[in-house]
Amino acid sequence: MQKEQVIIIGSGPAGLTAAIYAARANLNPLIIAGNAVGGQIATTSEVENFPGFDSILGPDLVQHMQAQAEKFGTRFEYDEVTEVDFRPGQPLRLKTYSNDYEAESVIITTGASAKKLEIPGETEFVGRGVSYCATCDGFFFKGKDVLVIGGGDSALQEALFLTKFANRVRVVHRRDQFRAGDFLQQKATENEKIQPVFDTVLDRIDGQGKVQAVQARNVKTGVVERWDTDGVFVFVGHFPNSGLFKGQLDMDPQGFLVVDKHMMTNVPGVFAAGEIMDPIFKQAISSAGQGCMAAIAAERWIESREEKTTA
Ligand code: NAP
Repeated sequence: MQKEQVIIIGSGPAGLTAAIYAARANLNPLIIAGNAVGGQIATTSEVENFPGFDSILGPDLVQHMQAQAEKFGTRFEYDEVTEVDFRPGQPLRLKTYSNDYEAESVIITTGASAKKLEIPGETEFVGRGVSYCATCDGFFFKGKDVLVIGGGDSALQEALFLTKFANRVRVVHRRDQFRAGDFLQQKATENEKIQPVFDTVLDRIDGQGKVQAVQARNVKTGVVERWDTDGVFVFVGHFPNSGLFKGQLDMDPQGFLVVDKHMMTNVPGVFAAGEIMDPIFKQAISSAGQGCMAAIAAERWIESREEKTTA
């Protein structure tokens, strides 16, 4: 059993910021990072609203944060937490594929994962035309025709990125107006490669060995059409990665962890930050801020316990 002061689960902006603060507070934090560092922001193209950077690629921002966390002594384990035991009155226990841990405090920053369309052909063609990451896969669509599904900031931001490669990017949205902010809408409107298609959903994705066509349906008129295309990029939101904590931590009906104003869950010593607890703001900078808050709260919580044991 490896004993730690602070274990941070997850390595997106919330986890990395929590690590920077916990390390500078001499808590010698361990990040259980998953298979890759960075979370969603690592698969984002350009980030233009993180203070201090006019424009930076998502993976580069992650690299900066990780280097900063390591500089202050954060240790990284590239492993996944498979089980937690947060029963009251005992040390906080975690299992990963390769180790067992006990911690004085745990900061959960497991973030959120991309929602799927759940239509025929989607799973079958992942990696063969269906993608959830323009940064990762955009390059393979040089000179091609692609669809982007969704109407939020992610859909328009990634559609703009895809215009660097694709000849035509149709943004297919289920309503008659985008949810994305005005700035991205303006940029998308000005880009001649982007064509919005409103009031439309996909019913299926077809092809032989790779994506070749989709069946699209206008939700107002009911008209069904077959469109030829080479790729389908899906950006229809996210769901919180909280399955591991079911039955142990309080969550809302959507699965977001519930925390108090000190970022503490219903279990003393267990904190949460970022998109695992935030159904509202969901920005890299708000997640980073929440990570900072959780680390400061964890430090104070550990201190108060030490004071109680020495009193
Ligand atoms: P989002 O804001 O939740 O938008 C999801 C979009 O997908 C919505 O337009 C939604 O339609 C649509 N949708 C949901 N389920 C669907 C389905 N089954 N079929 C078809 N369409 C579906 O998600 P997001 O764009 O990933 O953004 C998440 C958060 O990150 C937001 O807070 C956003 O502001 C932030 N973000 C910010 C930036 C930036 O500032 N540059 C970039 C990326 C993300 P409806 O509109 O009809 O609900």
